[in-house]
Amino acid sequence: MYLIIDGKKLAASMREDIAARAASAAEKNGRRPCLAVIKVGSDPASQTYVKNKEKACAACSIESLKYELPETTSEDELLALIASLNGDSRVDGILCQLPLPKHIDEGRITDAISPEKDVDGFSPVSLGKLLSGKDSFLPCTPAGIIKLLKSAATPIAGKHCVIIGRSSIVGKPSALLMLRENATVTVCHSRTEHLADEVRRADIVIAAVGKAKFVTADMIKDGATVIDVGINRDESGRLCGDVDFENVAPKCRAITPVPGGVGPMTVTMLMENTLKAFEMHCKKQ
Ligand code: NAD
Repeated sequence: MYLIIDGKKLAASMREDIAARAASAAEKNGRRPCLAVIKVGSDPASQTYVKNKEKACAACSIESLKYELPETTSEDELLALIASLNGDSRVDGILCQLPLPKHIDEGRITDAISPEKDVDGFSPVSLGKLLSGKDSFLPCTPAGIIKLLKSAATPIAGKHCVIIGRSSIVGKPSALLMLRENATVTVCHSRTEHLADEVRRADIVIAAVGKAKFVTADMIKDGATVIDVGINRDESGRLCGDVDFENVAPKCRAITPVPGGVGPMTVTMLMENTLKAFEMHCKKQ
């Protein structure tokens, strides 16, 4: 019998804890933690993600400021808004929802967010600190993955973890965090040869490909733990992950569902990072 790792439940209990810590920190410091969320254009998925972040802020006793800018916003206008939020002492965290319209260079935007307010953990400073083992804002999805694995009492140290996907927001930072947990890590990607053979060797599989039902039962070793990061639509338009859950789950020790696995934890780690930023700013003032 396999365990379904319930990200929704874990996220709810973490949010209660964050709310209590945020409320007591607010009492001490005379203001609440504050997250500024910027959205450019009207991408429907981004709209949903931003709404989820607002809801999470409300549940965590964190103030949220929303900036909804039109698709035609120039890179300079966006950089000017970020500069003003960087300098605003009431703002602890800044998040710019990706993807941005094509005429805006995402790298320039993430680089412009002050490392002290980089609650997404995407800036070169945060990623550099992660690489060198220093304290930093951890990218939210990989940090959530570690929490999910630990919540299911998954042995990590010395185990073989195969990550499918090498993006800067999921695959690569997940590899660094799993190394920090003393796993032996293999990162697979679109050019990997014999991908199924690589995945079959894994005690822990982290799938971050962005292709519906990409990971099939024949790729999974009996008793593996599977974390499904993907958010896709299947042939009938239903939300699904990168893993063929129905056929893969019976082979697993534990597995995350989609929805209700990694997604709620990503937003919760953003709240955790915002509270951390608030505490750091209050200490400095
Ligand atoms: P991405 O498109 O930046 O990266 C996808 C990766 O998959 C690439 O590194 C690529 O090399 C690899 N890949 C593509 N085709 C492959 C193949 N045939 N074989 C092996 N590897 C292949 O995507 P991302 O931003 O890392 O996101 C991945 C998925 O996770 C998407 O579905 C995204 O929506 C989802 N996501 C979910 C959350 C969450 O909170 N649940 C957060 C971030 C991303």
